[in-house]
Amino acid sequence: MENGQKTVHIKTFGCQMNVYDSDRMLAILGQQGFRSEPDLKSADVILINTCSIRDKAEHKVLSLLGELKPLKEKYPGKVLGIAGCVGQRMGRTLLQRVPHLDLVFGPDSVDRVGILVDAVMKEGRRTVEAKFDADGRSYSQPSIIHRAKPSELLTIIKGCDHFCTYCIVPFVRGREKSRPIAEIIQDVKGFVAAGTREITFLGQNINTYGKGTPEKLSELIIAADQVEGLERIRYLTSHPRDLGPDLIAQFGTVPKLCPALHLPFQSGSDAVLKRMSRLYTRDEYLAKVDRLRERCPDLALSTDVIVGFPGETDADFEQTLQVLRAVQFSGAYLFKYSPRPGTRAFDYGDEIPERVKEERLVKAQDVVLPLIDRANLGMVGKTTKCLIEKLDKKQRYYTGRNPYNTIVHVLNAGEACLGKIVDVEITEANGSNLKGYYVGAPKTDRQYQTG
Ligand code: SAM
Ligand code: SF4
Repeated sequence: MENGQKTVHIKTFGCQMNVYDSDRMLAILGQQGFRSEPDLKSADVILINTCSIRDKAEHKVLSLLGELKPLKEKYPGKVLGIAGCVGQRMGRTLLQRVPHLDLVFGPDSVDRVGILVDAVMKEGRRTVEAKFDADGRSYSQPSIIHRAKPSELLTIIKGCDHFCTYCIVPFVRGREKSRPIAEIIQDVKGFVAAGTREITFLGQNINTYGKGTPEKLSELIIAADQVEGLERIRYLTSHPRDLGPDLIAQFGTVPKLCPALHLPFQSGSDAVLKRMSRLYTRDEYLAKVDRLRERCPDLALSTDVIVGFPGETDADFEQTLQVLRAVQFSGAYLFKYSPRPGTRAFDYGDEIPERVKEERLVKAQDVVLPLIDRANLGMVGKTTKCLIEKLDKKQRYYTGRNPYNTIVHVLNAGEACLGKIVDVEITEANGSNLKGYYVGAPKTDRQYQTG
């Protein structure tokens, strides 16, 4: 505590939605007088915003909690809290298992972080809050714009109604609920006024945005496209079944919608897709890819794949490799299946040995990574438009992304380029990243806060 001002550090694991939630918690605590402390161990309040999508993600959190035990014993006045999906899944059990933990809460309690932290600080009460707010299909959560980065994330729908048989998300994030378009557009305008140029709309199952209300994602995209000063729109994550013709038709036609889409296929085998309850077949997935590329030939597609799902045979896995070969993906997140207690697939039994999962993961990487490398090598010598977002972690150069969502290190960019879209001539491709030099003048001279 410096000059009596309380400090908070939030460590974030997991998806972009958690990044968004952590930002929101910082903003709420900021309004209560907290200062953000970059050093975890020095903060008065340490919150860990967690992910439970795979077993490994949960283990990381539990081992971090173990590492923090001596710190909490030395400084019992510090508040140690778990937020997010592990908090939701384990609730009171976690508080019982970890005696040095003060606070546990789930994703639906993000907005109550101030009240919860206060209860622990003032009343010394160990607290758990792991329930979903139960009212209606829509919800309201205007952003607190305490700083604006060139590219901002914005959650527009929470929860998921799909219940894919391997997935914990519906259990830890509840049913789908959407924010109204008018409120989202207010947020977008607020961010743009503060300097943001690119907005990524977030949802676990974003294509069904507006379900149970009269509003649709394609309408939100049109409304956002009309916001003056906004340059780029993206959204994730799409479910192949719910990506309808109205959304497909917008790629290549709505000017600000970037030609990039994350469309997880998970498995190339219809038998596995059925057991995953994904509600589409391989051919239906590939037909959507064709339609997307007819509308927008330069569309960059990225995907998620799970290998070693219970019962996956060599032949099933070969079909996954075939899809990876057939669709030129610009990025692919490859995961070994991780059994999650409470999901339907958990009761199928974890039939595929770890060694086989590992082998399949490596084989899938060997197929997809060279294709991504080759596509990126093809960019060398070309010019691409890049929104400069930040200094890289080691502070060597500024990085940004092109419309296709590829990370570009811009070797000659300085602070003046931050938040601007510049033409970058690519000189080198390094795995999934590109390197190059900007040419010509930055497009506008807006000033951005870097946060
Ligand atoms: N809603 C998105 C969709 O339907 O594609 C994905 C959300 S999930 C947070 C991100 C990815 O994690 C999934 O696409 C899937 O590939 C992976 N995943 C989810 N549950 C998993 C599990 N039990 N084991 C391994 N990977 C898993
Ligand atoms: Fe999980 Fe995505 Fe399936 Fe929902 S649609 S259950 S978030 S994998």
